[in-house]
Amino acid sequence: MRSLLPLCLLLVSCFGGGAADSADSAVEVDSDTPAPVSAWRRWPTDDPREVPTAPHVVLLIGCTWRADQLGPWGGRPDVAPTLSRLAAQGVVFERTIAQAPWTRPAAAAILTGRYPDDLGITEPSFGPNHRGLPASAHTLPERLHEAGWSTVAVVSNPNLSSLWGFDQGFDVYVEAFPEWTRTAGIETADEVRSRGPAVVKHALAEVAARPDRKRPVFLEVVLIDAHAPRRVSPEAQATFAEADLPDEVARYRAGLNQADLALKELVEGLPAAGIPLEETIFVLVGDHGEGLELPPSHGQAHGFTLYPSTTHVPWVISGAGIGRGRIGGLSTQLDLAPTVLGLLGLGKVGLVGEDLSVAVKAGQGSAVRDTAYTSTRLRWADRSAAITADMHCQIDHDDKATAQSISKGRGLEFSTGCCRILEDPACDRPEWDPGLLERLRGWRSDRQQAHTAAEAQTAEPNEVLRMQLRALGYAE
Ligand SMILES: [Zn+2]
Repeated sequence: MRSLLPLCLLLVSCFGGGAADSADSAVEVDSDTPAPVSAWRRWPTDDPREVPTAPHVVLLIGCTWRADQLGPWGGRPDVAPTLSRLAAQGVVFERTIAQAPWTRPAAAAILTGRYPDDLGITEPSFGPNHRGLPASAHTLPERLHEAGWSTVAVVSNPNLSSLWGFDQGFDVYVEAFPEWTRTAGIETADEVRSRGPAVVKHALAEVAARPDRKRPVFLEVVLIDAHAPRRVSPEAQATFAEADLPDEVARYRAGLNQADLALKELVEGLPAAGIPLEETIFVLVGDHGEGLELPPSHGQAHGFTLYPSTTHVPWVISGAGIGRGRIGGLSTQLDLAPTVLGLLGLGKVGLVGEDLSVAVKAGQGSAVRDTAYTSTRLRWADRSAAITADMHCQIDHDDKATAQSISKGRGLEFSTGCCRILEDPACDRPEWDPGLLERLRGWRSDRQQAHTAAEAQTAEPNEVLRMQLRALGYAE
C-alpha cells in the first residue's frame, strides 16, 4: 500500500475528497482476491436524510462491450448468458449510441446525462488528456445520495480514478486496479487488470459491510475484462473461435464471457449482502465497443473512429417494476441518468437526455430522438458523427489525423462524408446528405462553445496510474 498515500493526498487537494472516514482496506475479502489500490469509505455519521421507500439500483458499466457481439443484439448466446437472461426478463434498448468511443468521456456522459465536451472532460489539443469530471457536475450518484440512497462503487478501469472526480456522490469508492509497485512491466493478464469476479467480490463485501441497512443502495460496478490486451486460456479461446474470424475476436468474446461470469456472481451474491433481487433494478450498459477489424477498416481497438463497432453499445434495464420487451429508436448514453431518475420518481433538472422510464415500465415503446450525435478527441483524432435511423454522417475535424493514422500503420479509414451504415458498415459506398452534415456542423459548433465555457478540471496522473493507462493503450 505504499503507493496509496501520495494518490490520496493528490485526491484531497484536487477534488476535496469529502470527509474520508478511512482510506484503508478494512472490509474483509478472502485472501485470494487482490487488494484494491485505493478504497475510500466516508459513511455519514449523523445522517439527517430521509429514508426513501424505493428499490436498490445496480449500475453495471461493461468496458469495451460491443452490442453486436452479445446475444440480445444478434451475438452468440453463449458469450454472455447472464446478461441475456436479465435482458429477457427486462427491456432491451435496440440501438444505444455511446457519446464517445473510449471510457472516460463515455462514463462521464452515463453518469451525468451531459455531453463530454460540455463537461470540459475532453482535451482540445492532441496532447495527453488529464482532464476529469468537474466538481460542478451533478452526477447520478450525487442525486441518489441526496435523495437518501447509500452509494457504493467498485471500478476497475483507471480512467474512472477518483483523481479525475469519478468518486463524486459515493459513500464508498473502491479502485480495484492492479497494484503495480512490484513490477515495472506487465507480466501476466492479472497485472493488466482486475478480473471481474474479483471486482464483484469487493462490491459484495462493501455492500454487506454498509452500516445503515434501512436505506436503498446504489451500487456501481465497472468491469474491464473485455478490454485489450487480452491473454485468455487456450480453452477459453477455443470455445469462442470461429473458422472465418480473427483469433482476437475469440479472445474478446472470452473476455466478455468472464465479465458475464462476474455478473452472474454479482446477481447470486446480492441477497446474502442484504439486497433482495425482487427489490432491485439492474441497469447494464457498455461504455464503448471495439473495432476487432470487423470490418478491417474499423481497426482493432477503440477511441478513434465512430462506427457502430465502437459506438453501438448494449443497454438493458431489468428488475423491480420493469416491463419486458424491446425499446426501438435511437437512444444514447445521455438517456440513462434521466431514465433511472424517472424510474425512481426523481427529476432530471440540468440533463439533456430523454427520460424513457414510461416505455421501460411498459416494456414497449421507442426513443423519440431522430438524430444522435457522438464525437471523439483522443490523441491524434478529433472527429464527430451524426446518426439517424438509416444514415450516418461524420466529419474529420483535422485532416492531419487521418494522415497520421495511416502513417502509423493503423489504417483506420475515416473521412468526412455519409453512408447507410446498417447496410454498409465499412462505409465504403458514400452517399451525400448535406442536410445531416450541416446539422452535425451546428452540433459541433454548440459543443465547441460549451467546451470553451466549461471549467476544465485537470489532474496529472501519478506513476502508478500512468502505468495502468499505458498498459491499456491510453497513452503512448
Ligand atoms: Zn472502456
